[in-house]
Amino acid sequence: MPILSRSQDGDKSRGGDKNRGGDKNRGQDWGSPRPYRPVFLEATLRERQEVEALGAGALAGGYGEAQGRARNALFTTCANPGCGTGWLHLWRSRQAPVFEGGWSCSFACTAARVAAAVRRELDGRGLAAESHQHRIPLGLVMLEQGWITSGQLRQALDAQRVAKAGRLGQWLVRQHAVSEQLVTRALGLQWSCPVLPLEFHDAEAFTVLVPRLFVDAFGALPLRMAAGQILYLGFADRLDPIVALAVERMSGLRVESGLVQESLFGAAHARMLSAKFPAAELVEAVSEQAAARVLSKSIEQARPVESRLVRVHDCLWLRMWRRLQSGPMPEHGSIQDLICSVGTH
Ligand SMILES: [Zn+2]
Repeated sequence: MPILSRSQDGDKSRGGDKNRGGDKNRGQDWGSPRPYRPVFLEATLRERQEVEALGAGALAGGYGEAQGRARNALFTTCANPGCGTGWLHLWRSRQAPVFEGGWSCSFACTAARVAAAVRRELDGRGLAAESHQHRIPLGLVMLEQGWITSGQLRQALDAQRVAKAGRLGQWLVRQHAVSEQLVTRALGLQWSCPVLPLEFHDAEAFTVLVPRLFVDAFGALPLRMAAGQILYLGFADRLDPIVALAVERMSGLRVESGLVQESLFGAAHARMLSAKFPAAELVEAVSEQAAARVLSKSIEQARPVESRLVRVHDCLWLRMWRRLQSGPMPEHGSIQDLICSVGTH
């Protein structure tokens, strides 16, 4: 059964993520904005309640049509395709946990679904699209634009070679060949992405969208939300499409990546890292199986109304929503993250 087949129409498109051929062309292929998570969560809970109501009616009225309906509804309810338990299992009045839009009837079913999701995520590792893509060297971009002369480029390259440190853009600025703004514009051309402004950045407000570890390790800075549907994600000198895709899948928001002038980025990045983030647990798993076990246990314990798993480089990121949300921005205190690194075996 497709993971998201029981959710609303808008969410079906999300289920297609895994069919898009990994992270290929992420920058160009982010499609139209999708409905955000609350719709998804509400639908899940409403369905739970309907199932419960039917179940209660069936119990009260004995055998009959109501029970038949209840049984059908309940039968389709455990989201584990391999669920071996009968419909009687459902009288346990277990409404949570929900993982990727589907409720599971027992620990075994949660574990089976999580194991499948872990496999799905880890299978995407090391795809060609994730390896280094060749880009026009920054110096050539600037030369083509007529922003620097070949003499200036040679001088900066020489300095870089001798120092064995520093990026070309930094050397060009240091040697007064160009301004920092122009280097950022050139990086934008090199990565075919916009240069994002960094005004009125409310770091505290965005801590609920990207875990602190990813802000820190991958330099991904959530900057601004537009129309409750688009999230702008800023980077200093190179984009990270894998992080952007993960945040997009997790938040249900469309993520637009861009570059931010490096000196401005540094201050905002530091500010964000000192803000208060939602609770996150970091776990190291020795194998795929160990990761699936620890994630399943965590879901069974927290009994979230929704949870979701995505991969960020070599980590698995599990987010659990403990209650329904009223907007596109998760409420502080309602979410819990588990980030699990997976050893290669
Ligand atoms: Zn089951």
